[in-house]
Amino acid sequence: MRYRSTSRRAPLTSLRGAVLRGLAPDGGLYMPAEIARHSPEELEKFRKLPFTEVCFRVVKPFATPDVPEEVLWQIVSEAINFPVRLVSLSPGLHILELFHGPTLAFKDFGARFMARLMGYFVRGESRPLTVLVATSGDTGSAVAHGFLGVPGIRVVILYPSKRISEAQEKQFTTLGENITALEVAGTFDDCQRLVKQAFSDAELNKTAFLTSANSINVGRLLPQMFYHVAAYRQLPVASVPLIVSVPSGNFGNLTAGIFAKRIGLPVARFIASTNSNDVVPQYLRSGQFAPRPAKATYSNAMDVGNPNNFPRLLDLCRGRLEYVQKEIWGRAATDEETLCEMKKVHERFGYLADPHTAVGVFCWEAYKLEHAEPAQGLVLATAHPAKFADVVRKAIGSAPPLPERLAGCLKREKLSLPMSRDYEDFKQFLLAH
Ligand SMILES: *Cc1c(COP(=O)(O)O)cnc(C)c1O
Repeated sequence: MRYRSTSRRAPLTSLRGAVLRGLAPDGGLYMPAEIARHSPEELEKFRKLPFTEVCFRVVKPFATPDVPEEVLWQIVSEAINFPVRLVSLSPGLHILELFHGPTLAFKDFGARFMARLMGYFVRGESRPLTVLVATSGDTGSAVAHGFLGVPGIRVVILYPSKRISEAQEKQFTTLGENITALEVAGTFDDCQRLVKQAFSDAELNKTAFLTSANSINVGRLLPQMFYHVAAYRQLPVASVPLIVSVPSGNFGNLTAGIFAKRIGLPVARFIASTNSNDVVPQYLRSGQFAPRPAKATYSNAMDVGNPNNFPRLLDLCRGRLEYVQKEIWGRAATDEETLCEMKKVHERFGYLADPHTAVGVFCWEAYKLEHAEPAQGLVLATAHPAKFADVVRKAIGSAPPLPERLAGCLKREKLSLPMSRDYEDFKQFLLAH
């Protein structure tokens, strides 16, 4: 598979080139040059073969010829070593739990796969590779855990000071080894800006060998197709169309969902479910894409004012608003609506949804109100409720039990370094280390 830029002014490259660069040299995002559909017979096999085998078959066309089959098999089986659970709350509403990995959020899929892929691609490099990642919460811990101890790679994580939960912060600031966390006096958008600026800084890139682990990296998107296959395997064969509600921030998750649809998985439509950072739902209504500064909300991993995968969504829909609208319906939930939905889902189904998942359920309910035709809903559950204990307590009056994994790292000491939001300070740090 060759990879092209969404801006179409950069040469085609290999998967290795796309993964190590992160961003294309013309500022665009890398996309697979073509996406092949699997035949109905092959899709039928997807229901029966072991999950690792299916993931391998799904990703193989995207990784050939860069990654030999046996290496790819090893990457897939090591990265996806935790289950995807489907919980049916009612015949028409299913929750796909993507949070059973080491950091209890769906980003484990992308991060664990990409870390192993990069580890393979940098074998034999003389300079260490520096992975830069801006996080609004969960990317940091997933990436840090994904790369921890991978030789030849160091990770620098930027996160907005005091805007993420203690549980999130402790998951990636206590690791040490090849992981450095920078606590930035600013917002998530500041963190993203610093990272972007570093990549476009020619002088810095002469000395440092930089790459990105944000959802702009195509190496993170590919494994996010896997859980759509997991849903397909577990859902009852139904004649009603499937609507997939995706709690969204940077829209990597939704982009990967469209990839999964393009390889042949049956999804009628996606819901762009956001909190009040609703740039994409507003675009779907007005045709105007108007990025703006992010606002802090309870579902803070989706506090994104300028979703960085938007160019990919447009690209997948040939740049036309009407095609995007056909593929995606959008809705936003306020903090109040999110709390209410958490409470409602708990009372009605005895199910504990984290705030991001609750946004997904809320937007699915809103979709149903506006669309009378029969449909079943699949909501991607992106984080474990225990990661957002404070919000859960607000919603239902008690905190969820703390999984052992999380309790352990809460006890450890935070090792992050303070950083201003000024690019020169960040650059000096990168040059000095
Ligand atoms: C990152 C994240 C999201 C948003 O995913 P995108 O791919 O950025 O749209 C949603 N929920 C949780 C818990 C996350 O960590």
